[in-house]
Amino acid sequence: MGLKVTPQRQLLFRLLHDTSTHPTADALFELASSQMPGISLRTVYQTLTDLAAMGELQSFDFGSGATRFDPNVDAHHHLLCTTCGDVADIYAEGADRLRVDDQHDFVVASTDIVFRGECGACRNAPAADRSRISTSSSTIETATRSQS
Ligand SMILES: [Zn+2]
Ligand SMILES: [Zn+2]
Repeated sequence: MGLKVTPQRQLLFRLLHDTSTHPTADALFELASSQMPGISLRTVYQTLTDLAAMGELQSFDFGSGATRFDPNVDAHHHLLCTTCGDVADIYAEGADRLRVDDQHDFVVASTDIVFRGECGACRNAPAADRSRISTSSSTIETATRSQS
């Protein structure tokens, strides 16, 4: 399949490569709209689907229900901050040597590992910021106050 270069594809490809946050289609639509007024959410979805079909990007669902798009098509794994939702690429040593046990008649094609936790920015955020970004703010606020 040849890569037909349309302005929409070029724009979305560039937006994806400019960020490392693995944005959703909605987030990309917002970014794209500011640079290409009039572009529709439907076009953004279609363009992302086309790019994924061409192997130009990967898509992941990290359990939030929203598909996130990733221009990094190398085999890699992810760090997911459960507080702010940021996603970072990592290359974990030995992950491709994980094997499923023999009881399953199954051939593994790929292994994606998501390490869930909290990013440095969230851990270091002041208490006021934390209550803004966290959904369980009351427990965190109490914990932070008793420390200081
Ligand atoms: Zn975070
Ligand atoms: Zn990634």
